[in-house]
Parts: sequence; C-alpha cells; structure tokens
Amino acid sequence: MIFRKPLEGIDRPQMDADVTIVGGGPAGMACALRLSQLIDAHNTRFPDAPLTKDNIYVLEKAREVGQHQLSGAVLDPRSMDELLPGWRDEAPLDAQVDHESFYFLTEKKSYRAPLMPPPMMDHGNYVISINRFVKWLGEKVEQAGITLFTGFAGSELKFDGNCVTGLITDDKGVDKTGQKKSNFEPGYELKSKVTVLAEGTRGSLTKQLAQKFDLYKDRNPQVYGVGVKELWEVPSGRIAKGEVILTLGWPLTTKEYGGSWMYGSKDNLVSLGYVTSLDYADPRTDPQRVLQEWKKHPLIAHLLEGGKMIRYGAKSVPYGGWFSLPPLAGDGWMIVGDSAGFLNSQRLKGIHLAIKSGMLAAETAFSALVANKFDAEKLQEYKLAVDASWIKDELWEVRNFHQGFEGGLIAGLIHTGLQQMTGGRGLHRVYPAHAGHTRMEHLDQLPENGGARAQLLGRAKGDGKLTFDKLTDLYHSGTKHEEDQPSHLVIADTNICNTKCVTEFGNPCQNFCPANVYEMEEATGADAAKDAPLGKRIHLNPSNCVHCKTCDIMDPYEIITWVPPEGGGGPNYDGM
Ligand code: SF4
Repeated sequence: MIFRKPLEGIDRPQMDADVTIVGGGPAGMACALRLSQLIDAHNTRFPDAPLTKDNIYVLEKAREVGQHQLSGAVLDPRSMDELLPGWRDEAPLDAQVDHESFYFLTEKKSYRAPLMPPPMMDHGNYVISINRFVKWLGEKVEQAGITLFTGFAGSELKFDGNCVTGLITDDKGVDKTGQKKSNFEPGYELKSKVTVLAEGTRGSLTKQLAQKFDLYKDRNPQVYGVGVKELWEVPSGRIAKGEVILTLGWPLTTKEYGGSWMYGSKDNLVSLGYVTSLDYADPRTDPQRVLQEWKKHPLIAHLLEGGKMIRYGAKSVPYGGWFSLPPLAGDGWMIVGDSAGFLNSQRLKGIHLAIKSGMLAAETAFSALVANKFDAEKLQEYKLAVDASWIKDELWEVRNFHQGFEGGLIAGLIHTGLQQMTGGRGLHRVYPAHAGHTRMEHLDQLPENGGARAQLLGRAKGDGKLTFDKLTDLYHSGTKHEEDQPSHLVIADTNICNTKCVTEFGNPCQNFCPANVYEMEEATGADAAKDAPLGKRIHLNPSNCVHCKTCDIMDPYEIITWVPPEGGGGPNYDGM
C-alpha cells in the first residue's frame, strides 16, 4: 500500500503570502473577514501607507466552500454580533430556538427534566446548517477582497529553525503507486509571514506542529467525541421549527459519555445525531450503531415514523476544554477554532468560540502586519487577547467538566454539581484527562457478548426505514474522492493491524470509522503467510472517508495518521 505524502525532489511553484489561513470553516472565515475589516479601516485612516489584502489567502480543501462542514448546529450569536453588525438579515438562519426539552433515556423509558439545565439552554439561539452558513461567510470573505482557494489542502508545514515559514499544498495528479499522472500538478510552496491553522478538529498540520514542538507537554491531552448525524424530513407537526430535544443515556451505558440532539428546522427538516465520547472501553463500540440504536427508542422512533433520512455525515469534536488548549501562537503561526480545541463541552457548542478565536487571531495578524514583526513575542498577543476575552470566561467555568466524567456518568454528574458550586473548580484545581485511545481495553478483559453494552457493539444492520447500515448512511454523505491516488490514511505499520491488533482489540478501526473505510479481509496470495499470519489483512477504502478524523484519534496503537487527500475530495454536505 502506498501512502500519500508530498513528492520529493520536484520543482514547486512558489508564492509569497502575508497571511495564509489554512481551512475555510467558521474560524478561518471569521479570521479572514476581520482582517479585511481592519485593513479597510487602516487604509481609510492612513491613505498614504495602505496595507494590501492581495497576499492574504484562505485555503480550503473542499471543492466548494462549506462542503466539508458539519455540525448540529445551534448557533450562539454572540461572536457574529461582534463580527458583522446586521448579519441576521442576510445569513441563512433556519429557525430560532423557542422550545426545549431534556430527557434521560433508559432502554424503554424516557424521563423529562422538569426544567432545562441552565447550561444547555438554547432559547433565542439559531438552528443553522453549518455548511450553508459557512458558504455564506465565504461569499462575504470574497466580497471583502480576500482570495479563497478551494480544492487546496495544506500538506506539509515549512520551517526555518523554529519558525513556521509557510506550507506546501497538496500535489494533484499522483496515482495509487505514487507516480505522476499526465495531469500532475505539483503543490505550491507558499511562503507566508503568518500561518493561521484553522483546519478543524485534529488538523493534520496542527498535528505536525504539536509533534515538532511537543505542544501538549505540560497540558492535559486533548480528548474528543465523534458526532454522527442524519438529516431527516418528517411529517408535518412532529417537531416544531425551533424545537430542541436533547437526551442523555440509552443506548450508552453509565460507563460511556455522550448524548443526542434533535433540532427542528424549516420545511419539516430535523437535524439529529448522537455524540459518542472517544474514550470508551470496548473496542467493538461503533458510534454509527449508537445512533441507529438511539433512533429505535420509543420516544425517538415515534417522532421519526413516516419520515425519510436524506443526509448523513460525521465529525469529531474536541472535548478537553481550557486545560487541553495547546500554546496558541509561536514564530510565524497561530492556531484557532477546533484545531486549538475551542469548544464548550458542557454546552456542546464551539462555532461561536471558533469565530471569536478567528477574530482575535486576525487582530494579532493585523497588528503584526503593521509592525512588520511576526515572531512568537508579537503573535503571543493573540493568546493574551484570548485570555482577556469572554472565551476564557466561558471556558474557565467548565474547565474541569469533561474530565469529571472519566469515572462514568454518575461520578460525572456529582462532579458537575460540585464544579457549579465552586465556579468550575470542583474537587481539584486541574482535573487530569487521559487520551481516549489509552482507555480502550483488550478483548480478553471484556465479556464476549458485550454484557450491558451489547447494543453498542458491532455493525448496525438497519431496516432501511428507521435505521441504516453504514454503507447506506454513507451514500447519503455524497462522499467522492479521486480513486487513483495514494491512500490518505497513513498506517505506520500494517503488520500491527494484521497481527497484534487482531488478537488484542479485534481491529476497532472497523467499528469506530463511520464510513466503512477499514476492513479486515481474508488474506490470500503468495505473501499471506508472511504478512497476515492470522489469516486477516487490513484493507482500506479511502474513497469512503468523510474526514471525521476518528481513526487518527482513536487508534489504540497511534499508528494511523489522517492526511488530506487530493484537494476537492471528501464529503459533499448540503444542509448539514
Ligand atoms: Fe473518519 Fe478516519 Fe473513517 Fe475517514 S477513515 S471517515 S477520518 S474514521
């Protein structure tokens, strides 16, 4: 198997940039827009010393802006009010939340909370499709005079000593064997004074940076969840436009962390999904199956009866909070949005924080352009701005929230209560966190039939109406990649997959991937005895990948690295 990496020893076209923003999601778009506003204001004030926007670029790996964006999503409007006055009149807002409920589910029963827990309240917030919202933001960025390159991914960061000097974009037209095709186009070497990493959760360049500088060495490790989502069209009157239903419990047991959402949108559309925390013990846990089992609950099945699933997708989210934020800036670089981990896990909300972090990074980038100074000392202003902003106020209050659930649901609820009484502290100043993949147990430590977790394990079969198998769901994500290219799922040692992992964990990649990318197939052929002594061999279907990054996060041996495929490939989310 050949894995994707930038070709070596070739001449690359060079481009110079003042600021390169890698990733056209909410954080990247907000960064570009705010930077443009600041430059406009500067040029009005100092017409004799104008700054140019010509060398500011946003790179987006999707073919079109917004195609790879997925979220619940309910938007807290706070940061948008700061970014674009009057935005409500133009933005694609599907509904305003005016009706909320919260349930605890057991297998057959549901218990409604008499009051909505205050941190979960969404009253007045907006139900949106994040990919349409980001598409609209992208139009604003282009109207503001910033160049947006779609279909371009960042493949490799460039360094000069400890300074990030830019990046290489993806090579196009490389075949499965790593050879140039007739349409080969080398990736650009983009030399940039400032590189802003806005790649979303578990960004691949952010990971390179974190490894090079050991960014998490004195922090809690980042921890994650994966949200698996379907968009449904339901008969009129089932769920009101602007209605929010949240649940905790079934099908997860009290040992796992996670919960569901249902958001009533316009035109009888319902966004629904289940976020499973990526720190479960049983390697057979399948988050796509968790969603299917949840839909079978009487409370949910009743609401969906007679409806139709029309879209599917998945995305990971960073749960770690304040103590899992890496250093946010260094020589020539800043990290924003989900790439840094700006998400309030108690509210399960990050879009407003992503937008605000992008704005603050833009203010620092602007100040750096004016001062013509791009070193760590200058870009550290971004970290200081985050500390002085409402981002810190919001995340500080929930700084120990997710870690409190490491001991299970009951302990987590007790810790949450204690933390609320002590301004977020609880029993310890810093609750420790453990990377989720380290909490996975070997198969021989677990009951063969799954015990109380049986409903979470293995593939969903699906009835084709209410529940679906993975491939049927995947079909509704619109995912497409160039087939003839090296695998963008890079496995450092497939030997481990074919031997140790078979016996220790039963190849959990087959379960946690929501897109059926990983399969263990019967090993045949001349080399079978050598490379697959247990009779099974890993097989990849990279074209199925919906870019959720779960494999990069949850692989127990940490041998899988997600890198961007040829630009333009990936899901084609619409209305998600
Ligand atoms: Fe997600 Fe990895 Fe599967 Fe792609 S291969 S869909 S990133 S788990």
